[in-house]
Amino acid sequence: MSYTEEIYARVVEKNPNEPEFHQAVKEVLDSLSAVIDRNEELYRKHGLLERLVEPERIISFKVPWVDDKGCVQVNKGYRIQFNSAIGPYKGGLRFHPSVNQSILKFLGFEQVFKNSLTGLPIGGGKGGSDFDPKGKSDREVMAFCQSFMTELFKYIGADEDVPAGDIGVGGREIGYLYGQYKRITGLYEGVLTGKGLTYGGSLVRTQATGYGLVYIVDEMLKEVGKSFEGKTVVVTGSGNVAIYAAEKAMQLGAKVVALCDSNGYVYDADGIKLDIVKDIKEVKRGRIKEYADAVPGAVYTEGKGIWNIKCDIYLPCATQNELDLDAVKILKENGCFLVAEGANMPTTREATEYLKENGILFMPGKAANAGGVATSALEMSQNSQRLSWTAEEVDAKLHQIMVDIYAKVSDAAKRYDMPGDFVAGANIAGFEKVANAMIAQGIV
Ligand code: NDP
Repeated sequence: MSYTEEIYARVVEKNPNEPEFHQAVKEVLDSLSAVIDRNEELYRKHGLLERLVEPERIISFKVPWVDDKGCVQVNKGYRIQFNSAIGPYKGGLRFHPSVNQSILKFLGFEQVFKNSLTGLPIGGGKGGSDFDPKGKSDREVMAFCQSFMTELFKYIGADEDVPAGDIGVGGREIGYLYGQYKRITGLYEGVLTGKGLTYGGSLVRTQATGYGLVYIVDEMLKEVGKSFEGKTVVVTGSGNVAIYAAEKAMQLGAKVVALCDSNGYVYDADGIKLDIVKDIKEVKRGRIKEYADAVPGAVYTEGKGIWNIKCDIYLPCATQNELDLDAVKILKENGCFLVAEGANMPTTREATEYLKENGILFMPGKAANAGGVATSALEMSQNSQRLSWTAEEVDAKLHQIMVDIYAKVSDAAKRYDMPGDFVAGANIAGFEKVANAMIAQGIV
């Protein structure tokens, strides 16, 4: 058994019932095998992989709160502090009924490499709750957030662990969480990112993940002599990442023809009108179905199947494992030549293999969606400096970070004789920095 196979077997044995975590570890270890084989003696001596796959700390707690009917509700809360070799833990909070330890461990593990790729000093973490903000009143969301932070505040801090948003955690939730942190600790510090602009947030943070995704895709296109101009794009989801990926793709000349949510998808042959989507999703917190009611000619289809819509570029921006083998076969048949992940691990393993084997350009989430966390780190820098940069400054930095990530990923793939394999390139480039820092800091 090779070192990576040994470690994977150990992860499966010691972490039963955590399929998402197994999937993420397997994908990373498989693509690192070339690097590990070259340095096996050194890494074994330092127990590097054994330490890399074990979170530094898992915090799990109860979150009691009272709903609008006066009934007590209890949710589970978590924070996974995965790896702090290159900086304070950094990674989002997800509020969604599907949240469990396996999903947060997979997200925390991926975050370690993603954060490393940004070139900024941030370690990896992730957290959240099985609380569902959908359908809750503002008061209920506030009660939940205050209870969640009353426990979480003990473990976080501007130089220790800096959570941000993720699925189900947007500006409203970050505001309530920040208010409670400040109230308990008396500290006005950059302990969360994704804050509102009136209390320490960064311009362009809201747009950053989606914009960053499109910036890196633009680099991929340039390398093959193409551009967004005139391309037909399908973006999945209709949340934060999806909306701003669609916006930037349109600004660069593409036509975005479809979006979805977990109930169904809309197709607009003339190109999606984003002001209407923003009104439905950001203002009214409604369903994507309402787009078809508002726009003549737009068609809503209930259920899954957005991948049946013909496109050149497909950007999955909803959730994990949304894109499977059957779906990518249809994308290929319909002439799609590029897939880049705005969401975390939206493409199943079999689908990823198929894309690679069939010559479809593919950029994994840990590189493609790193613009969000990178801009969070820029928010931390501004908070430390007690300064706010202009939108142009932040956007220019974000753009440069994505250009640099593309160069690192592409270069790592070439160095290990796998040109164009951006999955391997992203894992290798992210891993190298973390591994060197872990070795330098000794057995901790
Ligand atoms: P949001 O909660 O804003 O949006 C998620 C969107 O995906 C919603 O439209 C949701 O629809 C849809 N969705 C969820 N589950 C499914 C499903 N099973 N099928 C179809 N659609 C679904 O989240 P974000 O946009 O912030 O995050 C999206 C992804 O991007 C996640 O994987 C997240 O981890 C990742 N990401 C986010 C970053 C950020 O900065 N926000 C940074 C890096 C990665 P519905 O309303 O029906 O649930």
